[in-house]
Amino acid sequence: MAINNELTFDVVIIGAGPAGLTCSIYASRGNLKVAFIDKGAPGGKMTATYEIENWSGEENIKGYELSTKMLNHALKLGAKHIYGNVIRIENISEFEHYVYLENNQKIKAKAIVIASGMDNKKPPIPNIDFYNNKGVSYCVICDAPFYKNKPAAIIGGGDSAFEESIYLSSIASKVYIFIRKSYPKAEPKMVEDVQKIDNIEIFYNSEIVELFGKEQLEKVKYIENGEEKFKEINHLYPYIGFLPINYFAKDLPIFDANGFIETNENMETKVKGIYAIGDVRQKSIRQIVTAASDGAIAGKILTNKIKK
Ligand code: NDP
Repeated sequence: MAINNELTFDVVIIGAGPAGLTCSIYASRGNLKVAFIDKGAPGGKMTATYEIENWSGEENIKGYELSTKMLNHALKLGAKHIYGNVIRIENISEFEHYVYLENNQKIKAKAIVIASGMDNKKPPIPNIDFYNNKGVSYCVICDAPFYKNKPAAIIGGGDSAFEESIYLSSIASKVYIFIRKSYPKAEPKMVEDVQKIDNIEIFYNSEIVELFGKEQLEKVKYIENGEEKFKEINHLYPYIGFLPINYFAKDLPIFDANGFIETNENMETKVKGIYAIGDVRQKSIRQIVTAASDGAIAGKILTNKIKK
C-alpha cells in the first residue's frame, strides 16, 4: 500500500480524549507534525459527561464544552484530525511505525501514542442486550432526555454512577442507584451531593438480575439483602467501570494482566517509539487532569526525541 506525504507524521496519536488532545497540543507546540485519530466525537468520555467540577480553573464546565475547547486548541496549533477506526499498528524500528485504519488507510509515524481510553463494562444480566436502545444505555447525557419524567436506575457505586445520577435526577421522575456492596465507592463529596437530592434513592446490597418489558424496558427484578424484589424502571444506566480499549495492539508485548499498558514515567512502553497515555495506561488515578498530565509528558518527551 503506497503512503503519500499527507499520511506521514512525526507523531500519530490514537484517541482524542483529554490525554490525546493534550499530547497533540504539546507535540504541536514542539514543532512536530502531529495527527490524532478518533472513531467517535473527539473528547472521549468527557463528551458523555454532563458537568465536570474538578478540572483546575473551571469550577463547573459542561463535558462537551471542555471537549470542544481542547479540540479547537489542538487544531489551532496545526494538529491534523483523522477520523477512523484503527485496526492494527506495526512497529518496524524505533522511529518507523505504521497505523492501519479500517478504511484501508495506512499512516506512517516516527512515534505512536496510544490514548485509546476505556469502554463501558457490561453487567452480567442475562437479557440486557435485548434492551439496548430500548431503555438500557451507557450514556445518561445522550439518552435520558428520551425518557423524561420516567423512573430510572443506575447500577454502580463509583464516581461515574454518583456523578451521572445527579444529572439524571433532573430528567427522570425518580432515580434508583443499585450498589452491590453495603457502602459507596464514590468520593464523599459526590455522595453527600446525591444524598441531598429528593428524587434519588440508594439501594445497598442490591443487584439487578433480570429485566422485563415487551418492546421497552418496564420493570427490573433485583435481589436486596438476599430478598427478591421488583421495581418499575423505564431507563437503566450501568456505570460499573471500564475495560481498556486495546484490540488493535494485541500483538505487542506492552500489556499487564488486565489489558492496561505498562509505561515508565515518560509514558514509554516496552516497545521503543510506542507510548501510552490516559486511561488505557496502567495507573491508579484516572481523572481528566491525570490523563492531560500524561499527554503533556509524552508531548514534551517526544519533542526532545524527534528534534527537527
Ligand atoms: P469504578 O471502577 O470506580 O466503580 C465501579 C462501581 O461499579 C463499583 O461500585 C463496583 O462495585 C460496581 N460494579 C462493578 N461490577 C459490577 C457488577 N457486575 N454489578 C454491580 N456493580 C458492579 O468505576 P467508575 O466508572 O465509577 O470510575 C472509574 C474511574 O474514573 C475512577 O478512577 C473514578 O475516580 C474516575 N471518575 C472520576 C470522576 C470525577 O472525578 N469527576 C467521574 C467519573 C469517574 P464494587 O465496589 O463492589 O466492585
